[in-house]
Amino acid sequence: MIELRSDTFTLPTREMRRAMADAPLGDDVYGEDPTVRALEELAAETLGKEAACLMPSGTMANLASLLVHAPRGAKVLVGSESDIYVYEAGGASVCGGIVYEPIPTQPDGRLLLEDLAAGFPVDGDDPQFARPALICVENTHNRCGGAILPEEYIERLRRFADERRVALHLDGARVFNAAVASGVPVAQLVRHVDTLQFCLSKGLGAPVGSLAVGRADFVAEVRRVRKMLGGGMRQAGVLAAAGIVAVRNAGRLAEDHENAAALARGLAGIPGIEIDPGEVRTNICMFRVTDPRFTWQSFVASARELGLAVGELGHGRIRAVTHSGVTGHDIEAAVSIVAKVLSRGPEY
Ligand SMILES: *Cc1c(COP(=O)(O)O)cnc(C)c1O
Repeated sequence: MIELRSDTFTLPTREMRRAMADAPLGDDVYGEDPTVRALEELAAETLGKEAACLMPSGTMANLASLLVHAPRGAKVLVGSESDIYVYEAGGASVCGGIVYEPIPTQPDGRLLLEDLAAGFPVDGDDPQFARPALICVENTHNRCGGAILPEEYIERLRRFADERRVALHLDGARVFNAAVASGVPVAQLVRHVDTLQFCLSKGLGAPVGSLAVGRADFVAEVRRVRKMLGGGMRQAGVLAAAGIVAVRNAGRLAEDHENAAALARGLAGIPGIEIDPGEVRTNICMFRVTDPRFTWQSFVASARELGLAVGELGHGRIRAVTHSGVTGHDIEAAVSIVAKVLSRGPEY
């Protein structure tokens, strides 16, 4: 099976497994796992922030970040298509009494400043309104096909947040993809956000984990919330060891981007498939099946029968994600499978 449903299907490399086997360990809830410490220091340094905390998942890293930034009854402004709003089970409402205010996500992943501005009461202290505490953005943007937020946009967002005295959090699950694709050091891409989380378990290829990153006082609070949520892990160095290898090898994401671009070009040549290869800048390809004989369900099922797994992302958009488990040869095979599915129709 050519597995393009997600970059979370990556398996640890031989180098990761060796590092996991040999990692020096301790109890990380006591702060005594040297491998976790090393990963957290590497992450903070790589992202250009003061500190970082290893979390079991991106979902928990975002949740802990929101809980630290926003008191009960406050609101956080999030994209209507963001992972935080769509895929994280409303955790900040459930656990923190926080209101999510969904802001329309533009097709390129941005939230317009005028839309954000509407989330702020004219009289900031009017007691009718929940107080805005935080703005969240996503880079790259998953449901916008791996779109990269422009640097000057993030800079304008920073000024906007400063004027309104709210914090700025980045869901950077795939921020290394953004950095590698734009040829900019990741620390430069995130210099205007207060805090961020990034995933080790997506294209970076480690089995488990995310890091919450920011100022030392923020990270100390995240550590407390992590324990409260049940995310304190003991000899977590076995996981962190793979994470260190993953962060050091982040440059390999370029290969995933080349594969995604090749896939997009191949798909664009197939009648009945709609895709703009110019929009594929990182490791996510979004396309539609316009051939009226198919529903997205019948297309996905037919492709799967022929050995290609892809996913659906709402509104009939089909998602194919490249990662370290996918070769250039697999991409050629994937294009052939899609061509075959379209040529013979769904009845087969
Ligand atoms: C995967 C993902 C998350 C959540 O990470 P998990 O480790 O799966 O909980 C958050 N944000 C984005 C954009 C993601 O793609």
